[in-house]
Amino acid sequence: MILLNPGPVNLSARVRRALEGPDLCHREEEFAALQEKLRDQLLGVYELAAGDWSAVLLTGSGTAAVEAMLTSLVPRSGHLLVLENGVYGERMTRIARAHGLRHRALQLGWPAAIELGGVDQALGAARDITHLAVVHHETTTGRLNPLGALAELCSSRGVDLLVDAVSSFGAEAIDFASDALVACAATANKCLHGAPGAAFVVARRSALATGCDPPRSVYLDLAAHGRDQDARSTAFTPGIPAFYALREALSELSEAGGWSERRSRYRALSQRIRAGLDAQGYRTYLDPRESSVVLQSYLLPDGMTYDQLHDELKKRGFVIYSGQGALREELFRISPMGAITDRDVAALLTAFADIRSR
Ligand SMILES: *Cc1c(COP(=O)(O)O)cnc(C)c1O
Repeated sequence: MILLNPGPVNLSARVRRALEGPDLCHREEEFAALQEKLRDQLLGVYELAAGDWSAVLLTGSGTAAVEAMLTSLVPRSGHLLVLENGVYGERMTRIARAHGLRHRALQLGWPAAIELGGVDQALGAARDITHLAVVHHETTTGRLNPLGALAELCSSRGVDLLVDAVSSFGAEAIDFASDALVACAATANKCLHGAPGAAFVVARRSALATGCDPPRSVYLDLAAHGRDQDARSTAFTPGIPAFYALREALSELSEAGGWSERRSRYRALSQRIRAGLDAQGYRTYLDPRESSVVLQSYLLPDGMTYDQLHDELKKRGFVIYSGQGALREELFRISPMGAITDRDVAALLTAFADIRSR
């Protein structure tokens, strides 16, 4: 089955084999070496210096990383502004609410673009905002939010930027050079092509040191995880097979030329899918220039429900992804992330044509 949903992804044969690594006790040197290697590799994706940055590994899904980032890095005296233009922005507000973080949300509506003027106004209106949280690639619609411009704005206002990069880390440019960007949360099984179960936050060491004390969570206490991991240790049982797979996936990424080559690869596959579907009368939901290379949304054709399209494609070996909430009636989503070949894309377009002509 070819998975065109935005994670979990089809694994390469090499990453799948890595899942079968040896049984390991996480109190032994072999695990310490695995963990250390992974943390180095994660910083290596964007060439970050280990003196300034820490890659903190977690066992959990991407949401665990986002929740750990928000709850650990916004101090009790802090005030968080969340930008919402999709499901994942809204989820960050839910996390803030669940943990009693002092926060506000700028609710922009789902397909909406983030206008810098509006954000600047919101920052100005609240005055004491210390942290801004944004989703880099809003997977709800495929929209790529303007991270660079937001980082500049935060920098000029002295606000720390926290980024949900769950569906962009490894395949889009991230402005780590900006002093405002203090942390990015991400996961193994989206653009990095690892297996589900490992997630991580890449954070500035300075932000980890001044985060939330006492912690709001035991399991998601990023500073504690960071300290343990710096000491080549871990407090809780890690998802070791997912760690093995991530190590292999990161080697694969680096050998293939790193994140910018992955972006080129996704862009090429996405363009081919878009051109093929366009020729069959399918239209994108967003202007393609506003979309990430990682996922595109398409309008459902007249007279076909999502379930009909999904089921027909699944019979032919492809899993697409529905819209969320009200968008379920309107669109479907396709992501080229994972071990997808050119042949898979050609076969996908044939499957679409086959369904259209029935
Ligand atoms: C997938 C995704 C998440 C959450 O991922 P889970 O692994 O399902 O917890 C968070 N944010 C974005 C932008 C995502 O695409």
